[in-house]
Amino acid sequence: MTTTETTTRQIRRAQARQIHRAQARQSQTEQAQILTEEIMAQRTAPAAAKAKALTLIKGQLTDAELQAWQADYDARLQTIHQCPEQNLGHIEESLADAVKEPLRLLAERAAQAKANATTCQCRTCQRPLTHRRQLSRVIDSRFGPLTLWRDYGRCPHCEEWQFPADYALGLAKKASASPYLQEISALLVTKMPAEQAVPVAQRLGLDLSRCLLHCEAHRQGLKAQGRRAQSLAQLDTWSDIQQLASHTEGPPTQPFTLVIEIDAWNIRERDDWGQTKELLLQGKKLERWHWVYMATVFRLDHRGQTAGQRSLISQRGYVATRLGLEALTAQLYREALQRGLAQAQQVLIVADGALWIWKLALDRFPHARQQLDLWHAEEHLWAVAHDLYGRGTAEATAWVTPLLQQVRNDQTLTVIATLAQIKPRLLETQQEKLQTQIEYFEHNTHRMKYKAVCDAKEAVATGTATAEQIQLANQPLGSGAIESTCRQYQCRFKRTGQFWTTPGDEALMCLETFWRNGRWQELYPHAKSSAALN
Ligand SMILES: [Zn+2]
Repeated sequence: MTTTETTTRQIRRAQARQIHRAQARQSQTEQAQILTEEIMAQRTAPAAAKAKALTLIKGQLTDAELQAWQADYDARLQTIHQCPEQNLGHIEESLADAVKEPLRLLAERAAQAKANATTCQCRTCQRPLTHRRQLSRVIDSRFGPLTLWRDYGRCPHCEEWQFPADYALGLAKKASASPYLQEISALLVTKMPAEQAVPVAQRLGLDLSRCLLHCEAHRQGLKAQGRRAQSLAQLDTWSDIQQLASHTEGPPTQPFTLVIEIDAWNIRERDDWGQTKELLLQGKKLERWHWVYMATVFRLDHRGQTAGQRSLISQRGYVATRLGLEALTAQLYREALQRGLAQAQQVLIVADGALWIWKLALDRFPHARQQLDLWHAEEHLWAVAHDLYGRGTAEATAWVTPLLQQVRNDQTLTVIATLAQIKPRLLETQQEKLQTQIEYFEHNTHRMKYKAVCDAKEAVATGTATAEQIQLANQPLGSGAIESTCRQYQCRFKRTGQFWTTPGDEALMCLETFWRNGRWQELYPHAKSSAALN
């Protein structure tokens, strides 16, 4: 091999290496270029979406979207048509499914248009916001997640950053639920535990997690408590009380009696989560059971009977609180004013023998007539009968029957005399028990006036009642209305293995009470009708 040949080969190799290197460099450059383009595209895509969103002035679907939607449900309905085993249920389900995405798009665009139309000014002082920028957020809605862009800025006067569009749309600062989902979470969780509400919501076409339901319902409960506090603040000034007292619904009516029934039940709470052991070691006594105070208020002329002789109250107010007697008293007084306390010819308070109830009655409703629940009075007599003659015996029934009649005839003093007569014949332990019962009747004698109502009821049954008796017969002898309400609340708040915390149960009970009082719309202005159920 000559030197020249060697040199030429070396040169060729060197050239090949150079070309290879150049190619590699070019490929690297191309790759980098592609990557850069991708990154740029990724950046510009949201920027384009943002620009498009922020100029939207109307929520609508394009012609292409509408056609695609129509084609989709045509195909779905055709499939159902061809399958003999599929019924109207399948049509309902399939159409609801088909409509979800178009509605989601419409909702997203309509909300965006509303956000765009919102003036970027301070909601407190109405000054324009400075340092304006845009930020997106995702909202969970009835139709699925919606991405929204909105302006925000700072009010130099109030020294606060604000998102005016969020306020206009009814969105919370740190929670993703739309107003409809806020309401549905509140409604579901007041009726059933969150874990049960998840599959129920899903069947209704709503994908809600247990966490969203639970947290949102609690937040809504706190909102309801805030609203309740506002309405209670009306009791702080004389002019507000006057205004509340003069409030009457509809035209002036016949004189009426306002009935107030009061009761209480126990709720199981665990206030010191995770610290139980430690607190017990420190010798602290842990209270697990707490009182929930409840009351109901209604006008006697709003009480009637169903064809099946069941009493029915068309309009009534409810009060429920775990925050003590003072809270109950204020809430009950507010509710009574709302329901016609100032217009009522007579106020009747019906309850069992609990002392705190009569103290409250005397304090807040000093002119009200107090009535002991007849069935409680009878239970006390039955207790004596069972103690003397044994539970379920004919002797017990024979002994108690005339006494029960005396109670209905307003002859409580005769009953007390009978009890006092038999006392010396008893054993010492029996005497003590009987003495308690005697005192019960002595303390309540003035609250045991049932005769007029019993006579009126009988007159109505025999068709001989006067107009006055017809009205009187409607008067409740017991506090069954509040007792049934207590049971209904307990169905939700007193389930096996359930523990509550005070903030947790009070918030949910407050929500439930707004629902029952027909004031749901105060919390959710979009909810057209609100329930007022017995
Ligand atoms: Zn301001």
